Amino acid sequence: MPKTIKKVGVLTSGGDSPGMNAAIRSVVRTCAYHNIECIGIYRGYQGMIEGDFKEMGPRSVNNIVNKGGTILKSARSSEFKTAEGRHKAHENLLKAGVDALVVIGGDGTFTGALLFNKEFDFPIMGIPGTIDNDIFGTSHTLGYDTALNTVVEVIDKIRDTASSHNRLFFVEVMGRDAGHIALNAGIGAGAEEILIPEEDLGLERLLESLQKSKASGKSSSIVVIAEGDKIGKNVFELKDYVEANLPEYDVRVSVLGHMQRGGSPSCFDRVLASRLGVKAVESLIDGKSNFMVGLQNDAVSLTPLEQAIKGKTMIDRELLRVSDIMST
Ligand code: ATP
Repeated sequence: MPKTIKKVGVLTSGGDSPGMNAAIRSVVRTCAYHNIECIGIYRGYQGMIEGDFKEMGPRSVNNIVNKGGTILKSARSSEFKTAEGRHKAHENLLKAGVDALVVIGGDGTFTGALLFNKEFDFPIMGIPGTIDNDIFGTSHTLGYDTALNTVVEVIDKIRDTASSHNRLFFVEVMGRDAGHIALNAGIGAGAEEILIPEEDLGLERLLESLQKSKASGKSSSIVVIAEGDKIGKNVFELKDYVEANLPEYDVRVSVLGHMQRGGSPSCFDRVLASRLGVKAVESLIDGKSNFMVGLQNDAVSLTPLEQAIKGKTMIDRELLRVSDIMST
């Protein structure tokens, strides 16, 4: 018989992403629906160590479905990486009567959760919240779709300037280890070339491609570059390199930065967050633990946390081909 869950704690941890609030709302309201108490834990694992808790009911999450960021705040906690820190956190949960956790974050958050479960046999479910979409076991992480829409909207604006002045723009987007944002937003915004960490295009091919597009009559171009691309130069060095080799180009750089993490979540992210929150709480009620809830083939699924942490996400290589064809 699974242990009856009476009180669920929910926290957000690691980098924030749009849709985290909608997921908190979903967890809180699913608990209320099943007559389970819920507490919000502020500042991720650090708040767990400090006992920074707040009782939450369905009305505490009014008007947040549309808000970016996280009302529970997020933090990176080095203390939680110590046995002593985790022990304090466990004591606080026991004192507050919390008997299960939903953690919303990335693979670091899941690594901490798994360790905590092993040490204290504490039921935990994870919800993937990161704009990078680099978590195994889900086609979409919370915030990814919103970030794509933000990037496309900004590149559309940059294109207006690029085409008015016959310029080449290098636009750097987030993605240290994964090119999902660059690849999809690049195609969506009509980029000439897309540079991603998974694929080394090479400097020569980049120059060739830019020369080809000039020769074909294009007067302006946009190159989307993921921050972790493998070409071996940062975006400003790349600009200098291209200007030195193709003097006919006037190159400008735009680094989009943290704006990609902000903003009101897209409808897709709100619906996803609502579905994942329901599944996380109902899985705990069913006695499940150590899973990440995600989306696979449009259905909500469970992936063991261990696999979600260790598995590698792959880019869709067909998208590279589509991008090549589109820049003809
Ligand atoms: P993002 O993808 O936005 O970086 P993340 O969840 O991967 O999100 P991290 O900073 O890596 O972000 O992890 C969040 C928190 O999880 C850390 O601050 C720490 O408290 C906890 N954590 C990460 N790794 C471990 C670990 N090995 N042991 C215990 N706790 C950990």
